[in-house]
Amino acid sequence: MKDTVKPQIKNLPVYETGKPIEYVAREFGLDPDNILKMASNENPLGASPKAVKAVLDHVSGLNYYPDGTCYNLRQKLAKLWNLKPAQFVFGNGSNEILEFIAQCYVDKGDETVFGNQSFIVYKLATIFAGGTCVGVEMPGLRYDLDRMLDAVTEKTKIVFITNPNNPTGCVLKQDEIVNFVKALPEHVLFCLDEAYTEFEDSQVDLRPLIAEGRNVICLRTFSKIYGLAGLRIGYSYSNETIAGYLNRAREPFNVNSLAQVAAVAALDDDEFVSRSRRINKEGRRQFEKAFQEMGLQYFSEGGNFVMVKVEDAPGKFVEMQKRGVIVRPNVGYGLPDWLRITIGTPEQNQRCIQELKNTL
Ligand SMILES: *Cc1c(COP(=O)(O)O)cnc(C)c1O
Repeated sequence: MKDTVKPQIKNLPVYETGKPIEYVAREFGLDPDNILKMASNENPLGASPKAVKAVLDHVSGLNYYPDGTCYNLRQKLAKLWNLKPAQFVFGNGSNEILEFIAQCYVDKGDETVFGNQSFIVYKLATIFAGGTCVGVEMPGLRYDLDRMLDAVTEKTKIVFITNPNNPTGCVLKQDEIVNFVKALPEHVLFCLDEAYTEFEDSQVDLRPLIAEGRNVICLRTFSKIYGLAGLRIGYSYSNETIAGYLNRAREPFNVNSLAQVAAVAALDDDEFVSRSRRINKEGRRQFEKAFQEMGLQYFSEGGNFVMVKVEDAPGKFVEMQKRGVIVRPNVGYGLPDWLRITIGTPEQNQRCIQELKNTL
C-alpha cells in the first residue's frame, strides 16, 4: 500500500495527556481507588454540584441531537459578558476551538508564535494545518513579550498566549497584554487562552480591544474551575466576523447536550467556584511551604498547579506512580528537571508532598 498521508501528519508530535488512573493501576498493580491524579489540572472537588444535577435531569433526552447553536448557553454568556450572542463560538473543549482557529487562519508557509513552555496544542494545531511553529524562549519560565514581538514577521498569522500560562503558571497583567496586542501588526490574530483565569483575583479583560475592532480572540473552558473536563466544553469570544469563520470549521453538533446544560448550571454555581478558588489558594501555600522546607526550587504563581524542580524528574514521576500519585513530567516542554503538580485538597496535597519526599 502506498502511504499517501500528508507529510505534516507523519511529523506531528504526539500529545501526551496526564496518565489516566486506570493505566497506572494496571501498570503497577495498584488499587485505582487509592490512586491520586494530580496530572491534568482537574478540579479536586469534583464537578460543580449544580452542573451534576443538571446532567442528571437531562439524561432522558439523549436520543435527540444537541442544540447545534448552544442557544441557552450563548444567551447566558452574552448577558454575563455584555457581548452579542454572535460573538461566541462553542467547542468540544476549548482545545477544539484552537483547532478551528488554526484551520481557519493557518496555511502552508504561515507561521504561529507562542512560548516554548506553553500549551503544546498551539504547536499541534499549527502543524496539522500545515503551518510553521515559531517557539519563543521563556527565560525564568516567564513570557518575554519583547522577544515574542521580535518573533512576529509578515508570515505570522497567530500569536498564542496562555494566561496564567500552562505549564509554568506565570501570570501577565492587563497592561502588559493590552500594550502587547496594540504593538502587533494588523495582520496578526491574537489568541488569549484563559483556561485558568478564574483562579486569579483580577482577570485580564480584552473586550475593549475586541470592541475597537482588533484581531483578538479569547478562549475559556469549563474543564478547570467548573470541574467539567469529562464533558468537553469550552468557548471563545471575539468579534462576530472571526466567530463566523470559526463556525464554518465547526461540525454542526460538536457540543453534546449534557455539556450544554451542565455549563449553563455551572455558571450559576458561585459557591462552587469560590470554594475551588479558596482550596486552590490554600493548597498553593501548602506546597510552597513544603518545597521551602525540602529546599526545592519551585515556581508558583497562577493557575491550579505548581512547578517544582527535582533531580531526575522523569524518574521521580515513575517512582511516585508506584506510590499511587500521578504528577506531570515536562520533558516535552524542554523542562526535564521540572514536575508540574495540580493543587488538590489539603489531604491530597499532604500525600503528594509525602510521596515526593519519599522519592528524594
Ligand atoms: C486545560 C486547558 C485548556 C482547556 O482544554 P479543554 O479542551 O477545554 O478541556 C485550554 N488551554 C490550556 C492551556 C489548558 O491547560
